[in-house]
Amino acid sequence: MPEQQQILKTLKEYFGYDRFRPLQEEIINSIFEGNDNLVIMPTGGGKSICYQLPALLLPGITLVISPLIALMKDQVDGLKANGIKAAYVNSSQNESEQSIIYQELLDHNIKLLYVAPESLSFLENVLSQIQISLIAIDEAHCISAWGHDFRPAYTQLGYLKNKFPNTPIIALTATADKATRKDICDQLNISKAIQHLASFDRKNLSLEVRPGNKRIEQILNFLADKPNQSGIIYCLSRKTTVAIAEKLAERGYKAEAYHAGIDHQQRALTQEGFINDTIQIVCATIAFGMGIDKSNVRWVIHYNLPKNIEGYYQEIGRAGRDGLPSSTLLFHSYADVVQLQKFADTSGNKEVQLAKLDRMKQYAESLSCRRKILLSYFGELIEKDCGNCDVCKNPPTFIEGTIIAQKALSTVTRVKEQEPIGIIIDVLRGAQNTGVYDKNYQNLKTYGIGNDIPWRDWQQYIIQLINLGYLEIAFHENNKLKLTSLSKKVLFEGEKVSLAHLKELEKVKQPELQDKIDVTQDLFEKLRQLRLHLAKEAGIPAYQIFNDATLKEMEKHKPTTDEEFMQINGVGRQKMQNYGYQFIKEIIAFSEVKTKKKKKTSSKKGNTHKETLKLYHEGLSIEEIAIQRKLASSTIFSHIMKLYEEGETIDLKQLISKEDISTIKKAKEELDTPEGLKAYFEYFEGAIDYNTIKVGLAILDKEN
Ligand code: ADP
Ligand code: MG
Repeated sequence: MPEQQQILKTLKEYFGYDRFRPLQEEIINSIFEGNDNLVIMPTGGGKSICYQLPALLLPGITLVISPLIALMKDQVDGLKANGIKAAYVNSSQNESEQSIIYQELLDHNIKLLYVAPESLSFLENVLSQIQISLIAIDEAHCISAWGHDFRPAYTQLGYLKNKFPNTPIIALTATADKATRKDICDQLNISKAIQHLASFDRKNLSLEVRPGNKRIEQILNFLADKPNQSGIIYCLSRKTTVAIAEKLAERGYKAEAYHAGIDHQQRALTQEGFINDTIQIVCATIAFGMGIDKSNVRWVIHYNLPKNIEGYYQEIGRAGRDGLPSSTLLFHSYADVVQLQKFADTSGNKEVQLAKLDRMKQYAESLSCRRKILLSYFGELIEKDCGNCDVCKNPPTFIEGTIIAQKALSTVTRVKEQEPIGIIIDVLRGAQNTGVYDKNYQNLKTYGIGNDIPWRDWQQYIIQLINLGYLEIAFHENNKLKLTSLSKKVLFEGEKVSLAHLKELEKVKQPELQDKIDVTQDLFEKLRQLRLHLAKEAGIPAYQIFNDATLKEMEKHKPTTDEEFMQINGVGRQKMQNYGYQFIKEIIAFSEVKTKKKKKTSSKKGNTHKETLKLYHEGLSIEEIAIQRKLASSTIFSHIMKLYEEGETIDLKQLISKEDISTIKKAKEELDTPEGLKAYFEYFEGAIDYNTIKVGLAILDKEN
C-alpha cells in the first residue's frame, strides 16, 4: 500500500489538488487494502478521483465501466490533459482504432481503460492477457431496475467478480435509496463491499423557489447580474424550451433549445457549444445533462415543477461541480402540479408517483429551511438551518389571516365544493366572466368580498390554506376545492389562522440587453477568454484546461512565476507545462495595465501633460524632460503625441530623423498603407520603435 505522502503527492502532481474532498481519501485507502467498495456520493461530489488516483499507483490497468459514450470521451480527454494515459473502447470506433488500443494495452501503455458494458465481450481476449488491478463501475445504479436509468447491458457485469476474483471492484453512483444500493451489490457479487455514504449536502448551491408568475421577466432579472455564466433552464414541455430560448436570444443571450424531438446532429452541436462555452444557456427538457460533466455550470432554473425530488436534486446538482457558489431557482405553479398529476394518472405505479410529487410540492411550498427538507428526503438530517436558501435568507413573517381564510372557505362552501381554485378566486374578486355568470355566482353572498386582494395573492393564500389542511384539492374531480374537518373550526368555532406574508414580485431590474455589467475589465474574464482560446486550439472543452475555481484562485493570488503558479489549487504538473506560460503572461500583462491606469489617473491630478508641455516649450529635449521628471522617455514621448493630437503646437520633426521619415514612407507604400502600427513594427523587425513610427506617420499624414 502506498504511503499517505505519496498519495497526496499524486493528487497534486496529476490532478492539481492540494487536498481531498470528504470521503475520497478513505475510499482510496480502502481500495489499496483490497476491498470492494460501494460509493454513494452526490453529483459533483468528486467520485472520479476515487478510482483515477489509485489507477496511477496500482501496477496493472484500471478498467472503468461507463454507460455513456459522450461521457467516456470527455473523461479520457480530461485524463490526458492531466498527463494520464487513458483510452476508451466503444461502438463509436472502428476495428483498426480498437486494435491500436489493444496493442497499447498489451504494451502497458495505458493506465485507465474506459469501456461501455456492451463492448466488454469483445475485449475478453485482451483482458485475459493483461493485469487488471481495479474495476470501477461508474453510474452503477444503471444495473438496477429500481434505479431511474436502468441499462440491460449492465446486468451482465456480475460475471466480472467471477472472472477476476482478486481484483477489487468499486461501484459508484449518486442514487441513494436503499433498495438500489442492495441491488447493486447483489448483482455485482460484491456483498462484502464497504459502503461509503457521502453527505448529499451541496453547500455551494443556493436554493430558491418563487411563484411561477411572469417567469420570463423573473428569468431576465435573475440573469441580469450573471453575464457569460453558463446555465440550464429545465422545462416540462418541448414547446416551452423553444419559446424561452427564442425570447432569450431576442435579448442577446446565446441560448438554444434542447429536447428529444430535435434532430441528433443539432442536439450534439448544442451540447458541444454549451460544453465549450460558446452557448451560454440551454433551455431543455430533462433529456439534457446526463452526459455532461461540465464543471462551470453556474446556475440551474426549473421553469416548471419537477416530478420528484430525486430528479430535481440531480438536475440542480449539475450546477457548481467545481465547488464555487452557484444558484438554483425553481418556479412553482399550481398549474404545473395539476399537469403532473395528469401525467401520473396515465402511468403505472401511480400512487408512488403521486406521493413523490407531493413531497416535491411540500418542498416548493415550505416555509422553513429548504435544504433540511431536501436532505431529509435522502435520509440525512441537519441540525442547523442552512442559511443558503431563500427561506433562511428571507424568513417569512406572518399576518393575521383569519378573515382571509373565512372568506375563502365560505366561498368554497357556497359553490358547494364544486369549483377549482381559479373560479373560487374569480368569485372572491367579483370577476365578470362566463365562469361566474354561467352558474349565477354573481348572486352569491361572497361574490366580490375579496376584491381588495390581487388574483395572484389569493392564489398564494389558498395554496397556504391547502398546505395548512384547511382545504383539499380533489385531483380526481377536476381539482375541485373541498372543505376538510379543520375548515369548520375556522368557519364556526373562531379558530385563528396565521398566513405567511406574501413577498412582492421583484421588479424587472434590467429589461434591456445583457452585458450591462462590464466584465471585460476583470482578470477572471481575461483568464476565461484565454482558456476559451486555448481550448479551441486544443479541441477540448474549456473547463478541462482549468475549471472556474482554479481561475478564481489565479485571480486571487496572481502567480507570476512557475513556482507560484504550481501552488494554485487545480494546477498539476502537466497543465503547468502546457499552459503555465500563457496564463502567467496574461496575469503579468493585466497587472501592468492596471498600474499604468493607476498612474494615469493619479497623474491626471498632477496634470502631468501640462508639466511636460511646459518643459517642452522651455526647449528641453524628450530625454532631458524624462530625466528632470523622473519618467521613462517613452512616457514623455506619449505625452507629447497626446498633446499634438489635442492640437498643441508641437514640431514633430524635432522628434525624428529625416532618414527614419523616409524609411517609414517607403514602408507605407510597400505595405499598402496597413492599419495599425504593428505591421510597420514587424516590417522593421523592431529596428524602429513604436513611438517613432507613430511620429513618422503623423508627419506623413500632415504632408498629404
Ligand atoms: P462526480 O462524478 O461525483 O459527479 P466528478 O468526479 O466529476 O464528480 O468531480 C466533480 C468536480 O470536482 C470535478 O471538476 C473535479 O475535478 C473536482 N474535484 C474532485 N476532487 C477534488 C478535490 N479534491 N479538490 C478540488 N476539486 C475536486
Ligand atoms: Mg461522475
